[in-house]
Amino acid sequence: MTAMVSATELRAALERWFGFPSFRPAQEAIVRDVLAGRDVFALLPTGGGKSLCYQLPAVLSDGLTVVVSPLIALMKDQVDALDTAGIPATALNSSLAWPELQKRLAGLERGAYKLLYVAPERLTLAGFADDLERWGVVRFIVDEAHCISEWGHDFRPEYRRIASLRARFPALPFCAFTATATANVRDDVVAQLGLRRPAVHVASFDRPNLTYRVLHTARSADGLIGWLRARPDEDAGIIYAGSRANADKLADALTAHGIPALAYHAGLDAATRAQRQERFIRDDVRVMCATIAFGMGIDKSNVRFVVHWDMPRGLEGYYQETGRAGRDGLAADCAWFFTYGDLARSERFIEEKPPAERAAARTQLERLVRYAYSNGCRRRELLAYFGEDYPAEHCGACDNCLEPRTSYDATLDAQKLLSCIYRIREAHGYGVGIAHVVDVLVGAKTEKIERWYHDRLSTYGIGKERDRRTWRHLADELFRLGLIAQDAAHHNVVALTDLGRRTLLERTPVLVREAVAAVAGGRRARPATASDDERYDRDVFGTLRALRRQIAAERDVPPYVVFSDAVLRAMARELPRTPAQLRAISGVGEKKLADFGTRFLAAIAESAVRA
Ligand code: ADP
Ligand code: MG
Ligand code: ZN
Repeated sequence: MTAMVSATELRAALERWFGFPSFRPAQEAIVRDVLAGRDVFALLPTGGGKSLCYQLPAVLSDGLTVVVSPLIALMKDQVDALDTAGIPATALNSSLAWPELQKRLAGLERGAYKLLYVAPERLTLAGFADDLERWGVVRFIVDEAHCISEWGHDFRPEYRRIASLRARFPALPFCAFTATATANVRDDVVAQLGLRRPAVHVASFDRPNLTYRVLHTARSADGLIGWLRARPDEDAGIIYAGSRANADKLADALTAHGIPALAYHAGLDAATRAQRQERFIRDDVRVMCATIAFGMGIDKSNVRFVVHWDMPRGLEGYYQETGRAGRDGLAADCAWFFTYGDLARSERFIEEKPPAERAAARTQLERLVRYAYSNGCRRRELLAYFGEDYPAEHCGACDNCLEPRTSYDATLDAQKLLSCIYRIREAHGYGVGIAHVVDVLVGAKTEKIERWYHDRLSTYGIGKERDRRTWRHLADELFRLGLIAQDAAHHNVVALTDLGRRTLLERTPVLVREAVAAVAGGRRARPATASDDERYDRDVFGTLRALRRQIAAERDVPPYVVFSDAVLRAMARELPRTPAQLRAISGVGEKKLADFGTRFLAAIAESAVRA
């Protein structure tokens, strides 16, 4: 069963079936090991191109490649994509109607498919292993393999059933693919699956087309709407919220402002969730406001932004979630709206956890906060978290590299803020949050101020000449500098640290960084790699997008399965006139040229005439 394929033949197959001129890092080596019949463990980032690593070997082998996948939607997506590329594939799952199931089973009996996608539950159904044997299974692929590990964040007990196949098919190779990096998960996957001297491939986790930003800005729906309005209308994206209520609220606010958005969370019934996911995947709705219940298996390649509205669970989760942007390799933005107040809430969540989990959760939170407040290159820091050394000092595609913020002397304002906290808390013994401190500084007339006579404090109104936003930013900075902190006992109570007290008494100079405006921060950066990507005819692109949508609807598949945004942009840039010119574009394989070439060439010719 071992197949020997030359480098030239591999490239030719890649070109023919996928239309790609070259492999991404690690892909070729993995394809070779899979073809050679070895057990494989492959770790590539989200969007790194794992599917191709087993799909190409499947096309080049006799027999059936069985892929275990955790989600029906994911299987459907991949089968649609393979089908459109002319690679015979199918899936078996519980959602199939009887006639359709019979049709697929008959195809499997005939040996009509190269790939079969199944959910892990099916593997141990009575008689299924015999079926697989009869259908000529030659290898097992375990996609999203971290689901087998209890240490991972997506543990699926059903994944444990895969191991029993090893005993039943001792001669067949097992290949595991995942984007989850931690060492204990990695070891667990290898052990649970009983991989035998696996060929281990670990690709770089860098996603050069993603731009990372932390927006230290007061969080308001208006700010988010401004940020979204600064982007092209057709840009789709995901906004992660920390709770179901926030997901709903954001979706409503965006919709009310004319930005088509839907909410997605575990509080919705399965049918509604599936329907909303489908609408997002099919470019029917621009924005998904979701909890982390949404995401795994979103292979939609034209996700142009991922926003974190609330505190992520940890840096690992943050990276997986941002990884869902820009699978097509085009520039995409990752923005995290962060404010000091988020900490109090996260601390409260931690308190609600079982005591055994608190220490780990606190470490996670500290990592996140350090990242949020960092002045250094974000990419460097994210990669360092995964144990990878980024070779350059600056990546050119994060806020700290693109818009290094200047510092200014804020000694006088810092004195005002520190002494205001000092008066309220230490001199008068009130435990208050930063919002109240700012109210006192600007001389507001609130119920609390009147009730507590805080308008009689010497610091009342001493900060009138600055607005609340400026004071909030300064508070954020003082927090970053360790001059103020949350009270040890009450997380929403602000207190001076020892350093803060000394700074106040000794009038130490305080240097802080400028605030960033949310909208300026939303400006599209030129990513480090993309050169030509942003240069294309927007009208032609719009026409081609409409055509793609129409074809996708005719075939009942997601639009990005027909062609990715990257392919459409290349068409709108190069304006091919002949089938050969069209075929030369990366992502246009043999089958897609045959099926769609005429219509796309006609559309390009027509819009070029108009131009
Ligand atoms: P993963 O499963 O690792 O998250 P996918 O397999 O979904 O990633 O691939 C992400 C995207 O990269 C897909 O849109 C795919 O078509 C594209 N891709 C994969 N390999 C290549 C390649 N060699 N050249 C160009 N694009 C590729
Ligand atoms: Mg994948
Ligand atoms: Zn950087």
